[in-house]
This record gives sequence, C-alpha cells and structure tokens, in this order.
Amino acid sequence: MTGKAFFIDTTLCTACRGCQIACKQWNQLGATKTINMGSHQNPADLSAYTWKLIRFNETMGPDGKPSWYFFADQCRHCVEPPCMEAAPEGYILHDEATGAVIHTVKLSAISFVDVRDSCPYDIPRVNSNNIPGKCTMCLDRVSNGLLPACVKTCPTGAMNFGDRDKMVELAKSRLEARKKINPEAHVIGLDDLRVFYLMDSQTENYWKYAGSSVTINRMQAMKRMLKPFKALAGIRSA
Ligand code: SF4
Ligand code: SF4
Ligand code: SF4
Repeated sequence: MTGKAFFIDTTLCTACRGCQIACKQWNQLGATKTINMGSHQNPADLSAYTWKLIRFNETMGPDGKPSWYFFADQCRHCVEPPCMEAAPEGYILHDEATGAVIHTVKLSAISFVDVRDSCPYDIPRVNSNNIPGKCTMCLDRVSNGLLPACVKTCPTGAMNFGDRDKMVELAKSRLEARKKINPEAHVIGLDDLRVFYLMDSQTENYWKYAGSSVTINRMQAMKRMLKPFKALAGIRSA
C-alpha cells in the first residue's frame, strides 16, 4: 500500500504534550479555555481548535496499583475513510500521494451530524460557525518534504512518520522487541489506517475510541444511507 503513515509508540510517550502544542502552533489554532478535570489531560477533548490531544487515562490494575496510559489522539487518515462516505462528493478530499483525508470548508454548508457519526474514532469537529477542523497530516509540510509538526517535535521517538510500508515495518520490528519485555504488547491500525499505535496494554485502557472498528461503522453508514428509503417504505430502523 502506498502513501504515508504515522507510527506512534505509546511505550515511549512521556505525555510531554510537545506534539499537541506543535500542532496548535503550526496550524495557528487558537487557545481553548479549559478547567481542571482532575487529570493532567488538557483540554478535555478534541475540537476544531485542538487537532491533536494527549489523552490521559488512569486505571487500577488487579494488584490495586494505578496504571497511567497516554494516547496521542488524532485523525487516523483511514485508508477507506467512512467520513467520505457520509459527506457529499467533493466535500472531503483524499490526497492521492499521501492518503491524507482533508475535511474542506464546504462541509460548513451541511449538517455535520452524519460526518461526525460516521467516524469510528470520534474525530470530526466543527467550530461555532460550522467550519470543520481536524488533523490534515500537515499536508502543507509533507508535500514540501518536511515532517508533520507533531512528529518533528516529539523528543522521545514515540512519533514517527514516513512511507506507509516503512512505518509498517518499523511498527512490526518495535513490536517484536517489545514482546520480549511484555508479551501483551500489540499494534493497532496496520490493516486499514494511516496511524498505527504500539500499546502495552488492552486498547480500551487508553481511550474508548482508540481501537474502534472501521467495519462496524461502515455498517452504520450503510444503515444511515438506507434510512430515507426505509422511511418511505414505512419500515422502522433497528
Ligand atoms: Fe497536527 Fe499536523 Fe500532527 Fe496532524 S500531522 S496532528 S495537523 S501537527
Ligand atoms: Fe475520517 Fe475519522 Fe477516518 Fe479521520 S479517523 S479519516 S475523520 S473516518
Ligand atoms: Fe508523547 Fe512525543 Fe507527544 Fe511528548 S511529543 S506527548 S513524548 S508523542
């Protein structure tokens, strides 16, 4: 498979949030008003002004000791993006060279509900003027031979970016090494995404939408497409 991809090794992430800030800086995204939510995560969620967010999740292990999981959340640039299926043609672009999925300003003219609901990873957002905002894969930088701003900033090697095939290789080799320390280590996203994560623990310990299934959401998108026809036929949707 051609195009580009990210490989994010969560075992190396220290949650410094350098990537989160670099994304805001490069894309000139405004600050977001936040409150203390009892966690170092800040802000509480992605928004049209926060395209990358380090999520913090704390869970209690069976031994009663807390474990802390850090998850760099962003658009996964799906290989076959469900959000494109939910939008009118030409409103969401799929860059041929990189595979980047771009939500265009055209989306501001339509209800965003279907696009938001179609995403298995709960990524799409709009601002108060209905203008969409999400990770662009730093297409402006990448198409000029530069690394995405978030990757360039990461001080630990947790974030990597390059040709998709090379990122798959890197993810597999890091996984092999990690499994010698932790047999539970695994990688998600290799089959259908352009963002892969190496994880030490169960996917749901990191974030509830970390490992959603594109396949399941396709079915949801299909159901949505069939809704008007069912309504016409007087069939109640499940
Ligand atoms: Fe932000 Fe660019 Fe990284 Fe996407 S690739 S999260 S737009 S810095
Ligand atoms: Fe679209 Fe969501 Fe996939 Fe990004 S992660 S390409 S917004 S479906
Ligand atoms: Fe983690 Fe690297 Fe982002 Fe820091 S810059 S939060 S180490 S992924």
